[in-house]
Formats: sequence, C-alpha cells, structure tokens
Amino acid sequence: MKELQYLNKYFIKYKYRFLIGIIITIVAQFFTLYTPKLVGDSIKALENSKLNPDTVRQLLMENIILVIVTTLIAGFLTFLMRQTLIVMSRHIEFDLKNEVFRQYENLSQNFYKKNRTGDLMNRISEDVGKVRQYVGPAVMYSINTFIRFAVVTVQMYIISPELTLYSLLPLPILAYSIFKISSEINKRSTTYQQNLSKLSTFTQEMFSGIRVIKAYSIENEKQDDFTALSQESKDKNMRLAKANALFGPLMILLIGASNLVVVYVGGMMYINGSIPDIGVIAQFILYINMLTWPVASLGWVSSMVQEAEASQKRINEFLKIKPEIQNTVPEHTPVNGEITFENVTFTYEDTTITALKNVNLQIKKGQTLAILGKTGSGKSTLLSLISRLYDVNEGAVKIDGSDIRDLNLFDVRNHIGFVPQDAFLFSDTIKNNIKFGNEEATDEEVIDAAKKAVVHKNIVKFKNQYDTVLGERGITLSGGQKQRVSIARALIKNAPILLLDDCLSAVDTETEEAILSNLMDFCKDKTTIIVSHRVSSAKNADQIIILDNGKIIQQGTHNQLVNQDGYYKDLYFKQLSEKELQ
Ligand code: ADP
Ligand code: MG
Repeated sequence: MKELQYLNKYFIKYKYRFLIGIIITIVAQFFTLYTPKLVGDSIKALENSKLNPDTVRQLLMENIILVIVTTLIAGFLTFLMRQTLIVMSRHIEFDLKNEVFRQYENLSQNFYKKNRTGDLMNRISEDVGKVRQYVGPAVMYSINTFIRFAVVTVQMYIISPELTLYSLLPLPILAYSIFKISSEINKRSTTYQQNLSKLSTFTQEMFSGIRVIKAYSIENEKQDDFTALSQESKDKNMRLAKANALFGPLMILLIGASNLVVVYVGGMMYINGSIPDIGVIAQFILYINMLTWPVASLGWVSSMVQEAEASQKRINEFLKIKPEIQNTVPEHTPVNGEITFENVTFTYEDTTITALKNVNLQIKKGQTLAILGKTGSGKSTLLSLISRLYDVNEGAVKIDGSDIRDLNLFDVRNHIGFVPQDAFLFSDTIKNNIKFGNEEATDEEVIDAAKKAVVHKNIVKFKNQYDTVLGERGITLSGGQKQRVSIARALIKNAPILLLDDCLSAVDTETEEAILSNLMDFCKDKTTIIVSHRVSSAKNADQIIILDNGKIIQQGTHNQLVNQDGYYKDLYFKQLSEKELQ
C-alpha cells in the first residue's frame, strides 16, 4: 500500500464527493437489507395462512409493494453511489494523466532516448487505468462490502447466532479462491498487456516507416514478424480467457454450497425447535446470497489493489525522476541576444561521443554566424546547447554575459526561433503548424512568414491552401516544403535569436538564394546562427566557423577564409567551394 499513498492527495482534493459517496453507500445498504426481512415475514405468515387466509393475503400484498418500493429506493441510491464514487475516480484519473503528461513534457532528451514510445504510451493509458480501478471500483466495493457485512451479520446474529456461524463457514473459502483466481487472471493479463505493448510499438514503427518498407519491398518479412507477434498475443489472451472462464462457475458453486448449508442446518434447527419459524430459513438464504458477491468482490478487490500498487510504483518511479534540465530561476530574465561559448566541451551520455571539444566563440547581438562542417562534426549539437536541450559538461554557454544555467529556462527558449535539422510538422493544418511559433499571430502574419520562407506560392496551390491538413509528421509535403514551413514557424516567433540547422538542405539553390536574401533583411537586428554544409549559405555571414570532429578548425569572415581566387583554404572546403563555384 506504500506506493498507493501517493494518491491520498487526490482523495483529499475530492473529499466531499468521497464522503457523500460513503454516506449514500451506508443508506443504500439499509434499504437493500429490508427485502430479506419482508420475505421472511411473509413466509412466516404463510405458516398460519390456513387460520385466516384473508389477512395473510392482505399482508402478502403489502409486503410485495414494500419490497418493490425499497428495492427501487436501494437501486436509485446505488446509482447515486456509483455516480459519486466512480465519477470521483474519473476525476482522479484525469488529474493523474495530466500530471504524468506534464512530467513527460519536462523530461529531457536523454530520458526519451532510454525509453520506448510503446512503454511511455502504456504508462499514461494502462497504468493510470489500473490505478483508477483502485480509486474507483476497489474503494467503492470495499466500503460496500464492509458496511453490508457489518449490517447483515449483526442482523443474522440477532436472529440466530448458531445458524449465522454455520452459514458463514463457506465464505472465507469463497474469498480465498476468488483471490487466487483473480491473482492468476492479473498475472496473465499483465503478460498479455506487455505483449500488446510490444505489438503497438511494432505497428507504430511500421506506420512511420511505411515508405521505407515499401521501397525495400520487405512487406512480407514484416508481415511474418507481425504474425508471430500477434500469434503470441493470441496465445496469451487465450490463457487469460481460460482463467476468466473459471471465475463464474466457481462463484456459483460456492454460493450453492452456502445455500445447502443454510437449508440443511436451518432445517435441522427448525425441527428441533432452536429457530422460531420457517421464515428465518428463507431470510437467511437471502442474506447469504447478499453476502456472497461482496465477499467474492473482496478477493477481486485485493488483486485489483495489488495491480494498482504495481502500476502506481511504475508511475511513482517515473514521477520521481528529476528532469536533468530544470528551470532554477523563477524570476524573469531579459534576453538580448549576445551569445558566447567559453571552453565548451560536451559529451553525449549514451554514446560517450564527445561532440564538441573546447569550443570558444562570440556572436554579438544582431550578428550572423555561419557554421560549416561535415556531417557529424558537431553543428547540431552546438545549436542544441544554446536552447539548452542539453547542458554542457565543461565550460559555459552564455547569453548577454550570463551563464544560461543562471537564466530563466523558459525565457531563454522563448527568445529563440529554432529550425531543427529534421523539420517536424504536426498532423494539423499548415496555418496551425506555422502559428505554433506564435499562437496569437494573425492570418496576415502567417502569410507574411510563409512568403519570407518562400513557401507561400506552394501553399496557395493546395485546394485548401493554409487550411490543408497535413498527414502525420507532415507526410503530405515534400522535404523542401516541410523545411520551409518549419522556417516560417521560426520566423513568425520573431525572437531575438534565430537558429537555423541545415534547414535549406532539401531546397534548390535558386529558392535558397531567395530565402537567404529575405533572411538577411529579417535578421538585421537578430542574432542568427546558420548551419549549413553549403558554402553559399555562409557568404554573407559576419563570421564563419568551420567545425571538424567537434573542434573549430577555422574561424573568420568569408574574405579571411578564402584565397584571392575565391576558394576556401581548408582542403575539404576548397573542394566543396570549387564544386559550387563552377
Ligand atoms: P552535425 O550536426 O554536424 O552533423 P551532430 O552535432 O549531429 O553533427 O553530431 C555530432 C556527434 O555527436 C556525432 O558523432 C553524432 O554521432 C553524435 N550525436 C549526435 N546526436 C546525438 C544524440 N542525440 N545522442 C548521441 N550522440 C549523438
Ligand atoms: Mg546536424
């Protein structure tokens, strides 16, 4: 139960609902228990029916009406009980899901590298669902059982202590066997769930990679893999169904046994006169039947609680993870745009690749820096350090002279327009994808940003223009269009710092020229870093660095870096620029 204590804060949050639910449950029980007494009284009256049939008939009618009325009231109260307690559990589920989701948003890149999508999805759906079983049904049935048991046994005890003892005998066996079966069901359902999670990770990956799969025509192999996985899943489900099938018959068997005990022992006691009338037997049979379901549900509830405990443990473990990158500065800090790297060294934890080695550079506010280098030289890494997707291992990244770890994290990120290397678009309209950079932007601003990114002409060719809904990950656009929409998104943010990570790689040179000249204009007062592997993108920058294997190997203006003949002095870029200048 230790893990589940985490949820107490939610019970406190919904304490009134909870309390009202408990009170309604108690009242409902009293009404439910009235029926056996009425039935008992009726049968007792039947014993004397030969003497004055009319009064007995009268009594029977009255009792029947009373049974109907009390049952209706009890039914209505049970409905109210579910309305309060189960609805409370849905509220808690909602809160918990939001809490988990907020944590997902806070966790840093390293967390996402270590965990698989299928698992993460399960935590927010499966695990939270299991926990809801505890805060809803499990709590409700426990309260219900406890109250019913207390009230019924007291009633029974008052009538006949001896018969009570005998008729309760089979119940512990019932509770124990239900507990055993439920645990087995849970175990099997967990393995089934795990398999399902594998299956959903597999299919999800298939959907995102469908183009590659078709292009390499490996549909058949993938089909076989899927068949194997779903066969496994089917077997697991069959095992689960077998355990489930045992549940009902077992209950019926044990209820039957209890009834037999009451009839036999009660009959004996009636014969030797230790119970006053035959109505008691009927009353007891009804009582026993009223107890069996709650007692059985105890077994069921306890396995539900076990499962919820396991799920909550997983949730707690993950809620406890402190995001590696945290905002430690609550107050707002201004961001102007001067960026400095001082002896920055950075190593990726998982691959232990040192992607940047002792990097020093300074970009004044409003200036443009171009970073050139081969793939894998550390260009993207350098940009991700500025928006603090990772923290440096040595040295410091500074904005306006202060270490970014001493600035408000959200202020830093809000002042950066970032175009990542792999343009990611959401399955939403083009307009909303652009407005992602600035929720308040007007339609004119969206169009203006799209024009600057030279994608407006493409967009208006679509039937629905800016309202065109993109497929998942923007699949309806070409690579170059995606890049330009992604640029428009960064431009509309109008932030003082603009980071462009190789975002013109899929764009033809002519369009590139157009975008670059728009950018020149737009970025006059903005600090801009433009990463590229084309020398042409770097010509107009105030400063150029060439990265190789995490180190700056050359630094200077375009004029300083080229020979009189216009070629880069560095061998690799000499070849590159020769090719381009041809
Ligand atoms: P570039 O952008 O210049 O192509 P990167 O900055 O992406 O280079 O990569 C620099 C080095 O860091 C590469 O060797 C790459 O393998 C490694 N690297 C890049 N991203 C990651 C990552 N997310 N996790 C681990 N290693 C990475
Ligand atoms: Mg890169």
